[in-house]
Amino acid sequence: SKVKDMSAEVVDSNPYSRLMALQRMGIVQNYERIREFSVAIVGIGGVGSVAAEMLTRCGIGRLLLYDYDKVELANMNRLFFRPEQVGMTKTDAAVQTLSDINPDVALESYTLNITTLQGFETFMSSLKNKTFCPSEEGSGVDLVLSCVDNYEARMVVNQACNELNQTWMESGVSEDAVSGHIQLLVPGETACFACAPPLVVASGVDERTLKREGVCAASLPTTMGYNALKDFFPTMEMKPNPQCSNAACLERQKEYILAKPARDAAAKAK
Ligand code: ATP
Ligand code: ZN
Repeated sequence: SKVKDMSAEVVDSNPYSRLMALQRMGIVQNYERIREFSVAIVGIGGVGSVAAEMLTRCGIGRLLLYDYDKVELANMNRLFFRPEQVGMTKTDAAVQTLSDINPDVALESYTLNITTLQGFETFMSSLKNKTFCPSEEGSGVDLVLSCVDNYEARMVVNQACNELNQTWMESGVSEDAVSGHIQLLVPGETACFACAPPLVVASGVDERTLKREGVCAASLPTTMGYNALKDFFPTMEMKPNPQCSNAACLERQKEYILAKPARDAAAKAK
């Protein structure tokens, strides 16, 4: 429309106004600290694009975006990409859209396949980059979100996060969009993705023979909608597997057990 709403512009130009929603929800006390956090999102599809947009609107400090794909017309059911972005890489198109929504977020676009040798190297070094939190040990990000659609890529995120001792979240939406799962993975403390492989993988079936051709209707908003209607969200805890096939996972498990006395003492002091 040609009508310009000046009141909206005044509010938008203040970066702190974006934090008002978080403040008003009253759920987190230190809501303004969100500006200090870095989140890496692997896979900018049905789940990753929505997660990126939500974090951007909440005023996250920095987002690192990974995807090897280009925007296609078939992705337009995803709400996030625009027709004029067809042909752009998903990560570049995402940076364009997100910086329009909130110019205060530091956005990094990585067009790469994390399962290739070169891609994995860049993935790892970008996660280790500590320019934004020079004082902290280990990884340079606070959270990794796995929003990919295949087992191989999930196993690679698992490998990277086990090596970096990095907390991450794994997500999946069922093909018919009516259900999905979210898993929090804390290396050494909870099961890693290799500790309890999905049944189809454990049974040795090649996932490429399972994947159906065509456009996938599933996306985060549809699945959230269905789950809200059913009001059904089962949760469970998964302990790490001492026989896990991932060597870095076993190292993290050992460290976690060794640190138990320190954890107990800290809990007692509280
Ligand atoms: P569709 O399911 O119709 O293909 P989509 O392309 O949006 O839709 P999603 O399943 O919604 O796909 O999202 C998964 C995203 O993860 C895709 O954008 C895909 O390119 C990306 N992805 C998958 N594997 C990798 C990988 N190894 N490295 C980088 N990105 C990946
Ligand atoms: Zn494991």
